[in-house]
Amino acid sequence: MTDPTRDAAFALLTAVLDRHRPLEESLDALPAMDARDRAAGHRLAASVLRRLGSLDAVLEPYLTKAPPPAVRNVLRIGAAGILFLATPAHAAVGTAVALAKARGLAPFSGLVNALLRRVAAAGPAALEGLDGPRLDTPPWLWAAWGADARAIAEAHQVEAPLDLSLMPGATAPDGGVRLPTGSWRYPAGTRVTELAGFAEGAFWVQDAAAALPAHLLGATPGMHVADLCAAPGGKTAQLAATGAVVTAVERDPSRLARLRENLSRLHLTPRLITADAATWRTEDVFEAVLLDAPCSATGTIRRHPDVPHLKRAADLRSLTAQQDALLDAACALLRPGGRLVYSVCSLQPEEGQDRVAAALQRLPLRVDPAAPGEVPGLGDAITPEGFVHTTPAMWAELGGLDGFFVARLARRA
Ligand code: SAM
Repeated sequence: MTDPTRDAAFALLTAVLDRHRPLEESLDALPAMDARDRAAGHRLAASVLRRLGSLDAVLEPYLTKAPPPAVRNVLRIGAAGILFLATPAHAAVGTAVALAKARGLAPFSGLVNALLRRVAAAGPAALEGLDGPRLDTPPWLWAAWGADARAIAEAHQVEAPLDLSLMPGATAPDGGVRLPTGSWRYPAGTRVTELAGFAEGAFWVQDAAAALPAHLLGATPGMHVADLCAAPGGKTAQLAATGAVVTAVERDPSRLARLRENLSRLHLTPRLITADAATWRTEDVFEAVLLDAPCSATGTIRRHPDVPHLKRAADLRSLTAQQDALLDAACALLRPGGRLVYSVCSLQPEEGQDRVAAALQRLPLRVDPAAPGEVPGLGDAITPEGFVHTTPAMWAELGGLDGFFVARLARRA
């Protein structure tokens, strides 16, 4: 008998590493199971993905020849339990052996047993001698992050806390701390559905950095606002909660369904449109547009440790072309004097400042710089141009925040 946590972790790792599917999507594709087992399996797979380079470096000296990928994943699960999740050695070894047998890998069960016993004995010391941040970061990202690479990669080594945005007037659930920008933070591993007020729609999950773009847009009651690329709807919720008249545009029907579900829990009713925002045509003219563009998501690696294993430098080319097309469309929706906030959860300059620099050349836009008072505690994140650029290395003493690039622009008359 395997235990459901390891079973789920194995299915998730196979999906991400061998079939190149996103972790969240793979989680949705798991067979029906107890919610706690599913969460534990997710956490175990995420630990493996977060520290994959280090895990492989610990295992490598014990391998005389490369094992099949499935065996390697069983070994990684067992080693992650021992090295990162404080699983007692006998439990980590026993469950890994059972997993190998259940997955048709019985001929390798002796290897799994012997190797994980050695990891339990010598792995912690071996791990200490490794450069984890470097080993766990793909070289193209390390190079692209320049002088900030080590600090960013160090922040990726640990699981991120849970951040919430509150509905106006709602009370934060117990056990959290209020961050300087107004988000509420709870320890990593907190299960949001178990917090008081979840079912009633008192809050939604949103990293503190992800709350900045809608905040900088400055929507007010009655203002006509377009939210382009809207699902799963964290920023739509922020905008709608101000009393603005929000039109949310999302291309993917299944993601729009999730947005609808999220917003209905919060009792918010923006207008929802299924469309490609780059080609969507409307008679409406908006006072403000939020464009949270699709991107490489390298700013969210601490929450989505599958990203480094799925994204390649070459992906940036098609993403930047989409971002340009979306910026053109966003600008066309704005009335003169109207405000546009462009954001990406990316640490790559090609998707952030380079896109805005190019847009300023070809579109009737000017920069409307962010002021330090608008992002309390994050003055360091404001660039000389007045953009906001957070990295996971900021707020280290508070538990970090996602990497975001946010530019506020205004349409010239
Ligand atoms: N704004 C969202 C939030 O705060 O929850 C997150 C948006 S996520 C970064 C990007 C979203 O854009 C995805 O849901 C994706 O399906 C959608 N998308 C990508 N290209 C699009 C396009 N051309 N038109 C509309 N939606 C698009």
